[in-house]
Amino acid sequence: MTTAIAAAAKPVILDGTATAARLMEKLSRKASELAREPGFRTPVLATILVGDDPASATYVRMKRDACGRVGLDSRAIVLPQHTSTAQLLAEIDALNADPDVHGILLQHPVPEQIDERACFDRIALRKDVDGVTSQGFGLMALGEPAFGSATPAGIMTLLEAYGIELTGRRAVVIGRSPILGRPMAQMLVNANATVTLCHSRTIALDSEVSRADVVVAAVGKPHFVQSGWIRPGAVVVDAGFHPGRVGDVEPSQLAARCSAYTPVPGGVGPMTIATLVAQTLQAAELAWQAGRRNANASR
Ligand code: NAP
Repeated sequence: MTTAIAAAAKPVILDGTATAARLMEKLSRKASELAREPGFRTPVLATILVGDDPASATYVRMKRDACGRVGLDSRAIVLPQHTSTAQLLAEIDALNADPDVHGILLQHPVPEQIDERACFDRIALRKDVDGVTSQGFGLMALGEPAFGSATPAGIMTLLEAYGIELTGRRAVVIGRSPILGRPMAQMLVNANATVTLCHSRTIALDSEVSRADVVVAAVGKPHFVQSGWIRPGAVVVDAGFHPGRVGDVEPSQLAARCSAYTPVPGGVGPMTIATLVAQTLQAAELAWQAGRRNANASR
């Protein structure tokens, strides 16, 4: 069933908490099934936290806790604020080479002296469960198999769970960061939406937004996108999250104008975490299957 994009008396709330909980139940069942397979190793997510940003520490803890809830292990690597690019690259090399590690999460942002792009790109593609490498982005953009960037991939799962039709719809993504706005726009293109990607140099953002059937706000500025800009009947996804538990969309007219929207909190955030867990389990399954193929080939 698809949710028609039309002005609705009562908008659908795209409940990320409930959708993520259902996904986590499925992952838990799948993890138990795989655990019974001969030669399958417990999936391990290695998390790297550099520096002492309390919000980043909280996100990493939430991601590790989520792994634990479905029977996955995690390994925490915590590095000091003054870590250099070379030191971080060496940590990533060690995790790439470790057969017990199936996924690597480098928590963004890293301290400014570090070349974050170089470090993201050092993560082995098969362990890039947060979908941050250039190679993974390129493959995803071409519609080839790759782990999607966790936040936009989680948003796509949420839209699908609610039957939001994307084919032929006009979508506007506000924000072009490498791990959110850009992959989001590409995933929407892959889902056959007609996409406009807006950023800080966009002229007349309000009129771009007012033409969209689907709006994804990923600006990183609290209450920046005015709900009065939203076209009646549009679907609004708010990826922003700020102190005070507010998003990027100013909500005063949201419920009156939208056909569906994500709450903040409880929309995009839980989907990001569930997607990371799902992709870690998938990485472990793929590693196990590759091991079996190699064993069969050498018989
Ligand atoms: P970011 O790297 O700071 O990128 C922000 C983007 O917004 C940039 O592309 C920037 O354009 C654009 N922008 C800034 N000012 C603008 C303006 N006046 N008009 C139009 N565009 C403007 O942020 P991010 O990492 O993508 O994160 C965005 C938000 O999502 C943040 O609130 C963050 O906390 C949240 N987030 C949530 C999750 C989650 O799991 N819930 C995960 C990741 C991020 P330029 O490129 O031109 O500078």
